[in-house]
Amino acid sequence: MSKRDYYEVLGVARDASEVEIKSAYRKLALKYHPDRNPGDHRAEESFKEAAQAYAVLADAQKRGLYDRFGHAGVPGAGAGPGFDPTIFADFSDIFSGLGDMFGFGDIFGGGGRRRRGGPQRGSDLRYDLEISFEESAKGTETAIVLPREEACETCAGSGAAEGTSPETCSQCKGTGQLRQQHGFLTVARPCPNCRGTGKTIAKPCESCRGAGRIQRERKLTVKIPAGIATGQQMRLSAEGEHGTAGGPPGDLYVVVHVQEHAFFHREGDDLYCELPIQFPTLALGGSVKVPTLNGREAVNIPAGTQPGARFKVKGKGMPNVGGRGHGDLHVIARAAVPKKLSKEQKLMLEQFRKTLPEDVEIDQYDEKPFFERVKDIFG
Ligand SMILES: [Zn+2]
Ligand SMILES: [Zn+2]
Repeated sequence: MSKRDYYEVLGVARDASEVEIKSAYRKLALKYHPDRNPGDHRAEESFKEAAQAYAVLADAQKRGLYDRFGHAGVPGAGAGPGFDPTIFADFSDIFSGLGDMFGFGDIFGGGGRRRRGGPQRGSDLRYDLEISFEESAKGTETAIVLPREEACETCAGSGAAEGTSPETCSQCKGTGQLRQQHGFLTVARPCPNCRGTGKTIAKPCESCRGAGRIQRERKLTVKIPAGIATGQQMRLSAEGEHGTAGGPPGDLYVVVHVQEHAFFHREGDDLYCELPIQFPTLALGGSVKVPTLNGREAVNIPAGTQPGARFKVKGKGMPNVGGRGHGDLHVIARAAVPKKLSKEQKLMLEQFRKTLPEDVEIDQYDEKPFFERVKDIFG
């Protein structure tokens, strides 16, 4: 399935500002939101497509990669089972403040504020997990401990002491609202006696002091797929906070942060590294051992290789998080210059220098910085 251009999806120019992108996305998300288009499959697809485009374009780093490499530069969307890319990243953020008006609170945490006292879905939780570069390359399983609110077992979430149950509020007769006459106007306000729930608890549960929920630490094992990159997230369905009054639990989003590697730099599934090579090897040619994620790999260096020359080691990049093979490793040759020389070495080099023409043409050398050269490869 070919994917539409993200700028086209949001209907913005390629040089659109962050504000323009956010505003365009907001309009689309409001238009296509599943709550407003129940059962409309196409609206749901448009909604997801817009969310995906926004997740990339709202993130300066991802946007940069997308601008340069297109969809291939921002892998993750539509990956393997159990893996949810950053589709809903920052979603609650963009709609914060709109929850009451449109009922987004239901879906993105905060609990449906429009239905007081009724079943409410638990909040989604976010857990930021830092892993090493090696862990992201090999995949890992890690235990996380997270505090979350769970339904109180003693009172089964009702908040009432054992043997009792919540009673209908006598002040509002269970409606949760009090109506007051102000001249011609009738004003409804939440009942202060039951705090709008319509029920009162005469004897609160001792375990949860009437809240119906208890803060607990929960240990979870999270499977991190090989090839995962910073900013990608896994959704653990129903591992968020418990709902209230029988509402379903929210989800847990584990957002991964991968530490930088001292030697490898990652772009998509490809890896880049700079390898210092002895000057005689560059000049005469030879074989060098390139470090890869799994051991060293011999690479042939042709005679007369210039610093900045690139060699590709196929299939030695990062594993694709969706299970589609591996990227490549790009090795950029650097010239190793010895800092200390023995007397003998000095003499030999002095002799060698005498055989060279006096000036070296500067354009023999690649003077561009690393990232400029990376750009050059992709045009
Ligand atoms: Zn309780
Ligand atoms: Zn009341």
